Amino acid sequence: MKTVIISNRLPVKIIEKNNEYTFIPSEGGLATGLGDVYKTGNSIWIGWPGIEIPEERQEEVIQKLGELNLYPVFLTQEEINLYYEGFSNEILWPVFHYLVTYAHYEQTYWDCYKSVNEKFAKSAMQVLSRSDKIWIQDYQLLLLPGILREKLPNSTIGFFQHIPFPSYEIFRLIPWREELLSGLIGADLIGFHTYDDVRHFISTATRLLLVNSSSNVLNSNERQIVIEAFPMGIDYDKFSSFTTTETVQREISNFKTGKEGVKIILSIDRLDYSKGILERLRALELLLQIHPEYIGKIELFMIVVPSRDTVPQYSELREQIDQLVGNINARYRSMDWIPVNYFYRSFPIEVLSALYSSADICLVTPMRDGMNLVSKEYVASRNNNDGVLILSEMAGASKELMDALIVNPNNLGDIMEAIVIALKMPLEEQQHRMKAMRATVEKFNVNHWVNNFILKLNEVKESQKSLLT
Ligand code: UDP
Repeated sequence: MKTVIISNRLPVKIIEKNNEYTFIPSEGGLATGLGDVYKTGNSIWIGWPGIEIPEERQEEVIQKLGELNLYPVFLTQEEINLYYEGFSNEILWPVFHYLVTYAHYEQTYWDCYKSVNEKFAKSAMQVLSRSDKIWIQDYQLLLLPGILREKLPNSTIGFFQHIPFPSYEIFRLIPWREELLSGLIGADLIGFHTYDDVRHFISTATRLLLVNSSSNVLNSNERQIVIEAFPMGIDYDKFSSFTTTETVQREISNFKTGKEGVKIILSIDRLDYSKGILERLRALELLLQIHPEYIGKIELFMIVVPSRDTVPQYSELREQIDQLVGNINARYRSMDWIPVNYFYRSFPIEVLSALYSSADICLVTPMRDGMNLVSKEYVASRNNNDGVLILSEMAGASKELMDALIVNPNNLGDIMEAIVIALKMPLEEQQHRMKAMRATVEKFNVNHWVNNFILKLNEVKESQKSLLT
């Protein structure tokens, strides 16, 4: 019996050089967490390798990925446009983040979403055997549990969604709502980051599919399906120990030079309208307006990682950010000080780690976020137990990091006040709060998350069997 992980993307970086593909395992949170599972011989990870591979070279790619316990699903550019950028990112992403006016309900997106989920199932069937444990990841593959259940009725299927699950009133806006839910309940265990997501899912499924539920169990005709919260963690040890390495120490001292009298506020996000980037800038602007005593005393370091910027809503957001940063800087900067240091690019982990450990405040204000790992990475990097985390109550992480300064991201005054409180917070209180949050992030790390999910999946299957006998 092996464990089979299925996600939209494989955890690899692809390098194409002299017409030769090289695949390097990537070190993202999920890949690290699942590393123990998929690197052992008895498991496999299925997903799209990240680029279009011409048919005549697919066999070679299968061979090479096989050496890493990976198995590819080949997608064409058109499939990526319609299934991934279309249905997943222009319908499911905005609706699940409550930004319903951003959704485009295109029939062609749906048709392709269905056929690509079928394609994933077909690829999976090449490597699956009947007794395997299957763990499907995220919103691009909502139909896959149902498709695999039909092919392998007795299999063990877990599903985890990394983004929020919205309330019934929001979910029911989707034209293909019943089909999506029916696909999902092909799983035996469905996991979300928070208890609120669990509640929303259960209430939506009972109302739209007319299935019964008791507590966190749905009773479909043939099986009991358990819905549970598994808040995802990070690789705490990696972030905590990284700050003491020589490279990161050098980055820190470069960064801090010349900033002795200045408090550093850090924000790190992918470019996304769910992240509250404009609101954060407006709150900073308000602060400089209402509290001019901080002019010259604080600096925001704002990293925005390029993402989906071929989609019009994302390129518009990017322009709005450019403009607002420009306005704030033009208005408040002096010859030797600038309020917003804005970077539109990604950085290597050494630089991120140096920023996490140098920043006095980490400002995380999403309008809606499944979990938000940046907030946890900041906490893990604070080896001196100082620093203040300001965290939106709309991020899943706020349910665990209760010692952060929790804010409503729509309330600019609230964010501004939190920044002032953070700037004035005595060291003792910072340490008290940070210690508590570090203990949580350390204990509920990504390995804990993986083990917990797998353990529960086994348990659910066992209890289904015992109900049959
Ligand atoms: N990140 C990165 N490079 C960067 C900036 C950020 O790899 O230049 C990582 C960051 O360390 C974190 C992830 O991107 O692990 C962002 O995860 P989060 O849950 O905060 O947001 P998401 O982008 O998944 O919505």
